[in-house]
Amino acid sequence: MAKLKPGIVWGDDYKTLLKACKEGQYALPAVNVVGTNGVNAVLEAAAKNKSEVIIQLSNGGAQFYAGKGLPDTHRAMVMGAVSAAQHVHLMAKEYGVAVVLNTDHANKKLIPWVEDLVTYGEAFFKKNGYPLFSSHMIDLSEEAIEDNLATSARILKRVVPLGMSIEIELGVTGGEEDGVGSDEIDNDKLYTQPEDVLQAYKTLAPIGHFSLAASFGNVHGVYSPGNVHLRPEILKNSQELVAQTMGLGKNPLDLVFHGGSGSEKAKIEESLGYGVFKMNIDTDTQFAFAHAIGDYVKANDKAFAYQIDPETEAPYKKQYDPRVWLRVGEQAMAVRLDEAFKDLRSAGKTLID
Ligand SMILES: [Zn+2]
Repeated sequence: MAKLKPGIVWGDDYKTLLKACKEGQYALPAVNVVGTNGVNAVLEAAAKNKSEVIIQLSNGGAQFYAGKGLPDTHRAMVMGAVSAAQHVHLMAKEYGVAVVLNTDHANKKLIPWVEDLVTYGEAFFKKNGYPLFSSHMIDLSEEAIEDNLATSARILKRVVPLGMSIEIELGVTGGEEDGVGSDEIDNDKLYTQPEDVLQAYKTLAPIGHFSLAASFGNVHGVYSPGNVHLRPEILKNSQELVAQTMGLGKNPLDLVFHGGSGSEKAKIEESLGYGVFKMNIDTDTQFAFAHAIGDYVKANDKAFAYQIDPETEAPYKKQYDPRVWLRVGEQAMAVRLDEAFKDLRSAGKTLID
């Protein structure tokens, strides 16, 4: 097995990594981040767990990375993603972690965001000889499949010379992720049709590498138990149809599991046998970060009301220093990721020497 180096994973190394995941029946957590605290917590957790990891930014996460005060929100979305990517390029090497860097859901309205990132990425590649991102997601699952695949094919053609991949979606992940998606969709759409997967493979595989978010009842966010009915056999049926029709080996598709937060562990485990190499996690890491800070604020409530204690005159600077409570959030996020690396069986599987 070819080995990876710390830094961004792209091109043939990306394919090597996906092959190792599928053959070893493990997946990588794909963690949404909105700032350096999240990025650093993910890198810390990946280094500790001796695993590769996927870091991704939604459009809103990218905009937040640039700062909500920037008036041109489109440009903030682009430059925030660029800024985050450069932070990851630098720091992944410091932490000794190999990172797949991705942008998350881009529906029709957000395609110009992806295209501007590709344009920026072309100049970046020309200068550095490696891409800014490993992959961009194009989520046109709400459009007709012909439109979905035509746009995906057009963007894939642009990123192939940069050694990049795309992630597409067929069928709709329930719930909402950062303004993309809806709670009101008919039930059939929550389950991807294997025939659509075959059509996607025939259209995109001759152009370049793509991964596929197939819906098997998964939902963004965390819902009450019983409201989510996962059917991982849909992934299996899609893999088998493509393998048989195209004369390929087992699990030819590189599959992505969206809405991993709050899913039943047994269904997660089952999906690993069907070629899932990536599981998105956002809601659970957000909650871990927030919950720990909430506890800290409760335990140190006076430090958030007074600089100096009104009775004892003791200074609270050491408690309200943002480094202290942001670190509490980072640590809790890293602890939640320990669980993800374990559930996805990627702990200890790093391909770095
Ligand atoms: Zn998603």
